[in-house]
Amino acid sequence: MARGIFVTGTDTDVGKTAVAVALVRRLVAAGVRVGVYKPVATGNAADAAALWEAAGRPLTLDQVCPQVFPAAISPPRSAAAAGTEVDAALLSRGLEPWTRGFDAVVVEGAGGLFSPLADGVSNADLAGMLGLPLVVVDAARLGAIGRTLATVTAARARGLAVAAVVLSQTTWLDEKAHADPASPWRIAHDSRADLAAALAPLPVGMLAHRAGAIEPPFDVVR
Ligand SMILES: [Mg+2]
Repeated sequence: MARGIFVTGTDTDVGKTAVAVALVRRLVAAGVRVGVYKPVATGNAADAAALWEAAGRPLTLDQVCPQVFPAAISPPRSAAAAGTEVDAALLSRGLEPWTRGFDAVVVEGAGGLFSPLADGVSNADLAGMLGLPLVVVDAARLGAIGRTLATVTAARARGLAVAAVVLSQTTWLDEKAHADPASPWRIAHDSRADLAAALAPLPVGMLAHRAGAIEPPFDVVR
């Protein structure tokens, strides 16, 4: 089994790629030879390209993401719209090039934990097959506590290990509005603190919009 992590989300568009890129950069800075893998993408290969650049362009972009389908909808429906289907076996087999010559691999799923990757294969199924612990990402906005606890609880009920939680700020926040408890900044920071208390000793971080690093820093690959 490869060392690494599987970055998943409470939903689609919650900031998984930004978190995966920040984790890759931290590993690269620590001298870790890090591979990156996006099992399937729809719409475009922008996530895969961002991961590839962050890792220093290892192997090829096609090996980062072997399956890309044009319509920006779920992979099985996007593949069907293109007159084909997701290669379910390739979802796990595509990790193999990243298990040789690398110290760790950062995998980014597609959609949320229970979103489909292929007919009958969810992100949770693939994470289990790959044997990788999860980093659960949620958007740093109102509702983060409920969404995150639901996903972490469901992951553990499936027998999946959770390595960390990160709240990802997908939009710019006015950091001057600290005094207002309803400000996005305060909601995000209070949610992070509440989740850290509820999930201790699990690390719970926050990635500010366009920031380079998760705070507080933690290592998810050991
Ligand atoms: Mg993404």
